[in-house]
Amino acid sequence: MRVLKFGGTSVGSIESIKNVRSIVAAIGGEKILVLSAMSGVTNQLVSITEAMGEKNYEAIDTVISSLKEKHETTIAGLIEDKLLIYEAQKEVASILTELAAYSRENFSEEVYAKIVTCGERMLTYIFSKYLEDCKISNQWLDARDFMYVANLENPDTSLVGRNFENTISEVPTDIYITQGFLRRNGQNQISTLKRGGSDYTATILGAAVNAEEVQIWTDIDGFHNNDPRYVENTHPIAHLSFEEAAELAYFGAKILHPQTVSPVINKGIPVFLKNTFTPNLQGTKISAEASGKGLKAISAKDDITAIKIKSNRMLMAHGFLKKIFEVFDKHETAIDMITTSEIAISLTIDDNRNLDKIIAEIDAYGEITVEKEHSIICLVGESVIEDKKASRIFELLPETPVRMISYGGSNNNISLLVDTKNKIDVLQQLNRKIFGNESVARFV
Ligand code: ADP
Ligand code: ASP
Ligand code: MG
Repeated sequence: MRVLKFGGTSVGSIESIKNVRSIVAAIGGEKILVLSAMSGVTNQLVSITEAMGEKNYEAIDTVISSLKEKHETTIAGLIEDKLLIYEAQKEVASILTELAAYSRENFSEEVYAKIVTCGERMLTYIFSKYLEDCKISNQWLDARDFMYVANLENPDTSLVGRNFENTISEVPTDIYITQGFLRRNGQNQISTLKRGGSDYTATILGAAVNAEEVQIWTDIDGFHNNDPRYVENTHPIAHLSFEEAAELAYFGAKILHPQTVSPVINKGIPVFLKNTFTPNLQGTKISAEASGKGLKAISAKDDITAIKIKSNRMLMAHGFLKKIFEVFDKHETAIDMITTSEIAISLTIDDNRNLDKIIAEIDAYGEITVEKEHSIICLVGESVIEDKKASRIFELLPETPVRMISYGGSNNNISLLVDTKNKIDVLQQLNRKIFGNESVARFV
């Protein structure tokens, strides 16, 4: 069994959906297709949840009409058989009626999730009917029947596997089609795997069914050595280890949801990143094999808050750090970076939900300074700290204010904290100073 995930752009138009069909048809054996919503659709659905706050039903109904038109045009462009067109239209209409009803309910986390996951439900159904129209047998599966993910950080993939087995029908088929992003939480409510979560659906399912591989099909030819949205002349990397990919995804590389790699590491299931629009290009393989030493890639994670605790008296006193960490632990807030001096400790968090409570509690330990809107820039590669090129990060210091540096915490990661307004400049400078015109391929 293989799991193939196609992202929003890959299913974003009639032409690209036809492309997906050819890719799927060329891959033999049993496969589960995990599909995102058509590109832009989840953002439109999020805009509905925002308009609910203002009770702006006119805006909501305009979005629903545009979703109706978009999906009906897609159905008309893909499917020829009249009965299949009718079935697809009926399902889309029924999901949009549900959507309109949710948009009139009182806002709650479950209502939010029910709304924002409508895009995956519509598109997977259309795609299933399209394959049927092309005489490709397949089974459409409702992820709400088996994606029980109570713990977002540590999903019970064997439970998902058992549920999946119980859900698939006796009728033999090679192709199962299901929605990314959607899950049921520990209270059995409809929920999501957070934005970009279809990648995570794919690896959770990969581990659940002990797939031989997971393929993530997107709009770029693999994992690049720097963020191509901000930096020119980036290159795809042929091979990353699980640990390298996990660090890069966690530290902001948008190509992968932050948790994508974790479900497959223990089972050693490789993940391939491929471009739907240039399927013959090699892409990136993420696996347990060693991938060569040295710097591989740089990523950046935004919305970081730095907290400094300055205390003349007790900082390095025995037990002081423990007390500080206990406060963060109590408020379930993970710390990403830490630096210390004799009289101060600085640390960063990416989740501000409990910031006020944390500050109120650590206030007793010293003078607190909070700085928001920072970004962690992360240099990743096996033994990156031994790579002479990576040490050129220090050349940045005279020109760019770097708030914190974490070097040596692990052999595979060097992190810098900068003000987000300097992020693009730092990414570009690092690309010039570190990668220059040379390809990272020499490390691979
Ligand atoms: P999908 O809709 O298929 O899930 P995403 O938009 O979530 O696709 O992810 C692909 C995009 O990630 C690329 O188009 C690219 O702009 C962006 N990206 C950011 N960092 C990287 C990187 N290091 N390598 C490749 N793509 C990256
Ligand atoms: N459609 C969802 C989103 O846009 C999930 C995904 O595409 O991965 O966040
Ligand atoms: Mg994505």
